[in-house]
Amino acid sequence: TTSHLQSSYTVVDHSYDAVVVGAGGAGLRAAIGLSEHGFNTACITKLFPTRSHTVAAQGGINAALGNMSEDDWRWHMYDTVKGSDWLGDQDSIQYMCREAPKAVIELENYGLPFSRTEDGKIYQRAFGGQSLDFGKGGQAYRCACAADRTGHAMLHTLYGQAMKHNTQFFVEYFALDLLMDNEGNCQGVIALNMEDGTLHRFRAKNTILATGGYGRAYFSATSAHTCTGDGNAMVARAGLPLQDLEFVQFHPTGIYGAGCLITEGSRGEGGILRNSEGERFMERYAPTAKDLASRDVVSRSMTMEIREGRGVGPLKDHIYLHLNHLPPKVLKERLPGISETAAIFAGVDVTKEPIPVLPTVHYNMGGIPTNYHGEVVDIKGDNPDTVIPGLMAAGEAACASVHGANRLGANSLLDIVVFGRACANRVAEISKPGDKQKPLEKGAGEKTIAWLDKLRNANGSLPTSKIRLNTQRIMQNNAAVFRTQETLEEGIEHCRVHH
Ligand SMILES: Cc1cc2nc3c(=O)[nH]c(=O)nc-3n(C[C@H](O)[C@H](O)[C@H](O)COP(=O)(O)OP(=O)(O)OC[C@H]3O[C@@H](n4cnc5c(N)ncnc54)[C@H](O)[C@@H]3O)c2cc1C
Repeated sequence: TTSHLQSSYTVVDHSYDAVVVGAGGAGLRAAIGLSEHGFNTACITKLFPTRSHTVAAQGGINAALGNMSEDDWRWHMYDTVKGSDWLGDQDSIQYMCREAPKAVIELENYGLPFSRTEDGKIYQRAFGGQSLDFGKGGQAYRCACAADRTGHAMLHTLYGQAMKHNTQFFVEYFALDLLMDNEGNCQGVIALNMEDGTLHRFRAKNTILATGGYGRAYFSATSAHTCTGDGNAMVARAGLPLQDLEFVQFHPTGIYGAGCLITEGSRGEGGILRNSEGERFMERYAPTAKDLASRDVVSRSMTMEIREGRGVGPLKDHIYLHLNHLPPKVLKERLPGISETAAIFAGVDVTKEPIPVLPTVHYNMGGIPTNYHGEVVDIKGDNPDTVIPGLMAAGEAACASVHGANRLGANSLLDIVVFGRACANRVAEISKPGDKQKPLEKGAGEKTIAWLDKLRNANGSLPTSKIRLNTQRIMQNNAAVFRTQETLEEGIEHCRVHH
């Protein structure tokens, strides 16, 4: 029985005003804000905080600071609404773009080492989809950066601040499930201490999920192996809906297997995609733009080729990007980084061989539905604005729907700090440090322990790693760029067979 199980596992109880799950940009910013407001805060993270995926972000963070030319947050808002394919939540987008300059200045005050202009202001670079004057004023220079290591600089800066503010970290604790009471309120989380196998129930008045994206549900992703959507899964297991999961951003040319990005610039310099028959198939799909058609068109065409059996490699599950017809001088001068990346991650000499590539998951627009305060909402209920008491979410795990169907570059680092901060501010509005909390329900967490025990002792024929790989491959083939009723149904069938 589960009560027997509970006694055979060591369960440690903790009580906090607030518990944050995740220590990437979103989690750390939420934790800092909570501690600043005087809340006794725990931050649970399966990784050491500065190893969180935010560290990989390069380009920067958008904000209408106006350091390079006149700028206006409304122009940033216009671009974001348009970039979302008009499917973003405009209240949330307004909030994010209006708060952006404040959020970036705050990061500067925290000590983030931004690149500088000659006169000492934060340097801002051009980025895709950013315009001036509601699309009429040409390219905007709105992306604040710390060279090409902005995420790295941000994460380390925020971790330093969190240390200063006395957040209690539980590092290498793996959150397993939400602790929900019988009335549908969230009372905290249960986590596994990966160092010694003990289980920990964290009771909290407010729980903030900041567990990052789920790129690794797919075989090929530019995100870290740790981006497995754990928070989203916890919400789904609690019987709550998720939002916009179909909005997954793909980049056409990630290196097969490794997932590292090969820039669009490689096709700009004359690179060509070919299928197993050696055909330059983009001529068929986009006769004019060919290999330089827009990202969604190229990703879709590549996937069609693979699905129709013309993929390359032993499993016929990827495509070749040829640069080997280009003069070695061009490769050396214009694509040195790509040449090096291809050598390290694909073992390929680009002057002689093609690079194996695959449309690669880059970002998850969907996630745990929230309002612009970061409160989780029950979008499937009678009133889709109904808040789930005690539960919040921020960052790539969440869906305040600022990105709609498509995220613009450099809007995610912004999203994570703005909405991490919004969660902390909201908690301060609706509760006070030390507020009395209900005791946990009798047997809280027992189901999770039983589930963990079952998984630990399962003796099926397939090891976990194989099940994961099968699922990732099925997701890549059946639920990736190109989805129809038929591909999705086939994917479900393959899951049945392979599991
Ligand atoms: C290659 C690459 C480059 C990018 N460059 C940019 C850029 O230039 N600009 C931009 O705006 N965006 C960029 N992005 C997107 C951006 O980096 C991410 O969307 C963002 O960093 C996500 O931050 P986060 O705080 O939500 O999650 P993460 O940084 O992924 O942090 C998740 C945290 O949750 C914890 N966690 C997860 N599951 C559990 C669990 N079960 N128990 C306990 N803890 C858990 C982890 O330990 C981690 O601390 C880029 C993305 C990629 C892939």
